[in-house]
Amino acid sequence: MLTKAGAVPPGANGRPAAEAAPAARRGTHPADPYDLIGVGFGPSNLALAIAAEELDPGRSCLFLERNPGVRWHPGMLLEGARMQISYLKDLVSLRNLASPYTFLSYLKAKGRLEKFINIGVNRPTRLEYQDYLSWVADHFGHVVRYESEVVAVAPVAGPGSETLDLLHVRMRDARSGELHDLYARNVVHAGGGTPRRGAPGRICDVSSVIHSGGFLPAFPERFPDHDAVLDLGVVGDGQSAAEITAHILNHYPNARVHLFVPGYALRATDNNPFVNEQFYQHNAGEFYAGEARRRAMLRTELRNTNYGAVEVSCLGELYDITYADEIRGAPRLVVHRASDVARVVEDGGQLSVEVRDRTGGPDRTMACDGLVLATGYTRELNPAVFGELSPLLRRDDSGELLVSADCRVRTDERFTAGFYVQGYAEPAFGIGDTLLSLLPFRSQQIFDDIRGRLPAGRPAALAEPGLYPPGHYVEKDLDRIRSVMERFNFATVISADRDARVLVTHVPLVVERDRGGEHGMLIGHLDRSNPQVELLRDRPVTIVFHGPNSYLSPEVLKADKLPTWNSMSVHVRGHARLFSGRDELMRVFNGLCEQAEPEPGSYRLRPDDERIDQLIGHVVGFEVDIHELTGRFKLSQELDETDRELAAADMARDTSAERQTFIARAFNLTPRSDVRDPLGGPDAGGCPVGGARAGGRAVVAEGERETVR
Ligand code: NAP
Repeated sequence: MLTKAGAVPPGANGRPAAEAAPAARRGTHPADPYDLIGVGFGPSNLALAIAAEELDPGRSCLFLERNPGVRWHPGMLLEGARMQISYLKDLVSLRNLASPYTFLSYLKAKGRLEKFINIGVNRPTRLEYQDYLSWVADHFGHVVRYESEVVAVAPVAGPGSETLDLLHVRMRDARSGELHDLYARNVVHAGGGTPRRGAPGRICDVSSVIHSGGFLPAFPERFPDHDAVLDLGVVGDGQSAAEITAHILNHYPNARVHLFVPGYALRATDNNPFVNEQFYQHNAGEFYAGEARRRAMLRTELRNTNYGAVEVSCLGELYDITYADEIRGAPRLVVHRASDVARVVEDGGQLSVEVRDRTGGPDRTMACDGLVLATGYTRELNPAVFGELSPLLRRDDSGELLVSADCRVRTDERFTAGFYVQGYAEPAFGIGDTLLSLLPFRSQQIFDDIRGRLPAGRPAALAEPGLYPPGHYVEKDLDRIRSVMERFNFATVISADRDARVLVTHVPLVVERDRGGEHGMLIGHLDRSNPQVELLRDRPVTIVFHGPNSYLSPEVLKADKLPTWNSMSVHVRGHARLFSGRDELMRVFNGLCEQAEPEPGSYRLRPDDERIDQLIGHVVGFEVDIHELTGRFKLSQELDETDRELAAADMARDTSAERQTFIARAFNLTPRSDVRDPLGGPDAGGCPVGGARAGGRAVVAEGERETVR
């Protein structure tokens, strides 16, 4: 049943879903949907999170992952097992070598870069790759909810929409068991494969049969005695079957392994450089552009580059074990050719395995102590989750999803939201669809497509009422926000490095209203030796502008109120870029002067001043493309007009005399006797720096004039 967004289906406890989830949280109401919700947070959606941050951090994204962290095939993290691709095919390098999320950046952050180079390998272990994924994921904690299982995705019409322009995502919090309802304009499904366990009533119902995806820790838990005499079966002829067989032979010296393979024997993966070209971005695009018959033919031809095939080094290792057994006179590996394991029956502690001969020979039944299915995975949309959406998704004659080159599933025209799949359309994209090689490119394609389809000019960057800060304190007038940034332009620039160490610098900034996007740009400069410089190289940044603030005493007001603090501040989020050209830096220096002293005839830099060239050698410029502006103006909005006038007068009260004394003390100058010291120190006295601005300048030596600026 399709649902109109206004009538949200019941949530936990039978209450309307919009009530069951906190109403003020983003994405919990159809009027405030996420730009993108990702289902699953494995490598595919991790790559997408990176692309989203690097290409347009202003978009609202959320990723839902049912596990407590990123887990990449934990059941197959066998010691020594290596990746089947180069470390350069990480989540991002092929798209953006300068990204902070490359495998090399990870090695550097972990202090292992030199060691990794020293071991001279191209393919990291799977254990190290899992650690890399976790390291990347740690940087995206703000956009992912772990232990959150998506239980339903359904199309809905947003407020006032004639079409089904939103997706309603229902998730279950694994800790509390509660259901929550979220809304998104786009959903990207990257939930991975389902272990292939055979038909119901044949293999899959026998719970003691272990699939390779859960080999660890299930197998060692079921067979804790490594010296036991066992007959164990392994089904399949792919990489998993070979690695598991080798693992058992290495760790269970008295076990015999029956390997059931569908063909003559194990075969080597064809990864010669010519066929490997199928994973080039261009060639993958060409595959997609081909007609259906051509794609089907190529898929069959290229099957042994990935499925039912084993890395040649792993085959060698396995054969060495069997040869050593021959020398000892105790062979332990029995390969059953042309075998199809058709059915398994549990009988007491033993398994009875029915094996069909694929060449037409007689079927047979064998007894085993345990069985591991290394039978691969299927990739289909789970009907329990996507049942309502499925009728709107278009499929070809053989039932395969029809997708655009950007992985968007083609749909009935009533459905205008975006539903994207990663790893569910191999017939369209070829063998690379479920693999890692193409992730950097694919994530960009998906994200660009999503960006291109989002409503233009939507006020994404201004904070919405109902979020923090509370709506009545959120200033929505862009001019008023900018005037705080321009008048109080000595800002706090905040960056976090990859280990979540926060670096902060206080600098004056120039607001450039007419550059960049809707919200303009900021430019400024830093000392070249400031460690934060590196964190402004093509990275997200947060900047805080502090406007006026003051204590508001109840004594000031007519109404009987508790004391409070009024303030104006502006939070900026954006993307930083460094520069060091003279012209760009001159724009920063001139801008700072003009912003501070706009009056005609005020001090201006002379472009030929030689001291500027010396200064340029010591500084680096940066600009920030503003994606999000939040003005927090807490200005007694809850009071009546009379009290607001009193509060405003109190904030504007001329405290210059006290401030003068405070500043004089900070400068270690002798206070004057005619001004009260607000700090009330033992040598309380007056201030020598009061009066007009020009008088203030008089205490500063001429030669230090530029340091004052
Ligand atoms: P796979 O390559 O799909 O191989 C499964 C094999 O099991 C298929 O050849 C299949 O034959 C056979 N099979 C299925 N049901 C059977 C049955 N009832 N009886 C006998 N044989 C049966 O699966 P995988 O080895 O798990 O590999 C999956 C992916 O993971 C691959 O991309 C692989 O490269 C990757 N992987 C990587 C690593 C690593 O990086 N070190 C380790 C493991 C896996 P049919 O197709 O004819 O049914």
